[in-house]
Amino acid sequence: MTDLEQIKKFYEETFHKFNAERKFSEIQINFYPYIGINHTIRVRNGKVFVRIAEIFRDAPAEAQKALAFILVAKLFRKKIPPQVSDVYRSFAQNPEIQAKATENKRRKGRKIISTSKGEIYDLDEIFNRLNQTYFQNSISKPTLTWSQRKTFRILGHHDSTHETIVISKSLDDKKIPSFVVEFVVFHEMLHIFHPTVHRNNRRYNHTRQFRLDEKKFIRFEEAENWIEQNVKNLKLKAKRNKAR
Ligand SMILES: [Zn+2]
Repeated sequence: MTDLEQIKKFYEETFHKFNAERKFSEIQINFYPYIGINHTIRVRNGKVFVRIAEIFRDAPAEAQKALAFILVAKLFRKKIPPQVSDVYRSFAQNPEIQAKATENKRRKGRKIISTSKGEIYDLDEIFNRLNQTYFQNSISKPTLTWSQRKTFRILGHHDSTHETIVISKSLDDKKIPSFVVEFVVFHEMLHIFHPTVHRNNRRYNHTRQFRLDEKKFIRFEEAENWIEQNVKNLKLKAKRNKAR
C-alpha cells in the first residue's frame, strides 16, 4: 500500500516533468468508490483534483507512479510511453483486481444479500466439511455466497477486505459434480490460509506453498481436468445463449 503523501509526490514529479509544477496551487488526491477501475483528474480554480479508484488502494508504488503519469499526460494531451502503460496494466489487469472490479459491479444496486444455500449445493456445508478435512477447523468462516449471475469466467473469488468467498452460481447445478464445487471452494479457502504476499512491489496470490497445498485436495487432478474440459464448453454455451 502506498500512502497519499507518497502518491502526491508522484503527481508533483510528473507535473515537474511537464514543466507545469507552478501552474497549480494545490494537488488534492483521494480514493473514490468508483465502481470498477476508473480514475479522474480535473482542474478547477487552479487546483488539481485526482480521484483514484478505491480498488487501487492496494496498488504498489510503481503502479501508482504509472497512473500519475497517465493521468497528468492525459491532462496535457501528451503521449503515454508504452513502458508506463505496461506497468499500469500489469496491476490493473491482474486477475484478482479484475475479479474485484467484476464483483463490485455485480454488487452495485444489489438489495438481496445472496445466500450460501443454493438450489443444489450448500456452501456452508461444503466449507465446514473442507475446514475439518484439510484445515483442522482452523479457518474462521467468512461470508459465503453464491454470485448473483451465472458467470463462467470466474468460478470463485475471495475478497479479503470483506472476508467473503463468492462462488459462481453457474456451479450450483446438478450437472456439476460435487467434488468440482468443493475444489473451487477449497481453492478460495487456501487464499485465506495463504494470504497475499507482497514482495518487491509485487503481489503473489498463488505462492509455491499455496500450489503445493492445493494438490492435497483428494481429487485434485480429476477436478482440474473436469474444469479444463467442461468450463470451456459452458463458456461457449453461455456466450451463444447471450447472443440469441
Ligand atoms: Zn486463486
